[in-house]
Amino acid sequence: MSELSKCFYEVTAGRSCRDLCHPEYATCWQSFVGITKTLLPGSYKLYLTLLVIPPLVKGGGYTAEYWKSHILGYASISFKTYVQAISGLTLQCLLYKLFGKLHYYCLMGIPGVVSAALVPKLPKVHLRLQGITYFNMMLEVMIKKSRFRWLEYLRQSTPWATVAFMLCSSKIMAVLRAETVNQFWIMYPATPKDARKGNPGPCLHDGKCSFYVFDAMWKYALAGFTIEAARALLSKGPLVYREPGRFLTEMRSAVGLALPLFLALYVGSYRSLSCVMARLSGREHPGQAKVAGLISGVCYLLYPKYQIFTLAFTKFIEMSWEHYLNTAKSKPRLVALLQRVPFLRLVHMFSIGYMYHALVFHPHLSPAFNSKCVNYCSGYRVERTKRRLVGWMLEHAWNS
Ligand SMILES: [Zn+2]
Ligand SMILES: [Zn+2]
Repeated sequence: MSELSKCFYEVTAGRSCRDLCHPEYATCWQSFVGITKTLLPGSYKLYLTLLVIPPLVKGGGYTAEYWKSHILGYASISFKTYVQAISGLTLQCLLYKLFGKLHYYCLMGIPGVVSAALVPKLPKVHLRLQGITYFNMMLEVMIKKSRFRWLEYLRQSTPWATVAFMLCSSKIMAVLRAETVNQFWIMYPATPKDARKGNPGPCLHDGKCSFYVFDAMWKYALAGFTIEAARALLSKGPLVYREPGRFLTEMRSAVGLALPLFLALYVGSYRSLSCVMARLSGREHPGQAKVAGLISGVCYLLYPKYQIFTLAFTKFIEMSWEHYLNTAKSKPRLVALLQRVPFLRLVHMFSIGYMYHALVFHPHLSPAFNSKCVNYCSGYRVERTKRRLVGWMLEHAWNS
């Protein structure tokens, strides 16, 4: 498929945006009107997981206020994604008109970057969610695509990935324990503010050590199982109508146990190691979080997925940077300048463009989630565009 990048201009010579992107519409204007009318439900469908899973794993505090802001948040991000999809697809036409020919980077990449820049302002939590998701997928493609020998070797080696995950986990738990950053991670260490009268020992958590460990393991296993079940339900749900007999069997095979196991053991081993170290040394020490974070990171072996790896790597960089900003006594001028750069926004724009481009030109490296996002939001137009391009390429190879 990387062949496509080499012969792109030859196979698209003399073809228009209509031939490639919207043969079903005679003009670009009709295409714009058509997608505006039809794409809205796709975005709402894409974010269904975001609507369903957070309340399921929240486990309490369901006030009317919570439901209102949760549902409004879902409606808003879905609508903004719809606006982004329309602008991205329309930009394909505008860029074609501007240059008078189809351009390799103007087909997906640049429309992706520009449409992400044009999207109505997202709340920080959603900008972060999208930005980090896309950045992580971009990292995944870059790792898979890299021709560096050492990276090619590391990519195929689960032990090395585990060591890297362990190091990231160690740093993340250390800065969370130091309370110098306040960001999302899979689990959180007990900090001095958690210590209450319920625990007479040296640990920082409330209540007995055994309860502290097993309560989390049970909750994390349940959360992992819920995520797996919801994911399976969203993909196999339609079978209920079509083939009810097959539904249960398919569901059973689609729900994996690796994720719940990883989550439960990661949190369980971290917590038990922290308790053991605090008890052995007679007092809790911030350095213990570093050690427990490192050792518990070995659980990555149970669920060695790119998504978990890239999440840890991104969080490691983000948290190290925030930790530095919050603790450095004097900062060089360069850092003060860098602080003013809207990194998250830039990462969001650039990684969306990169992933859109990868979807068409390097589809074998692009994660399934990427094509799901783009296809739901574009009503499968991008998939059809890709197929047309491949068809033209085969035709070209046949004739030459
Ligand atoms: Zn057009
Ligand atoms: Zn304890």
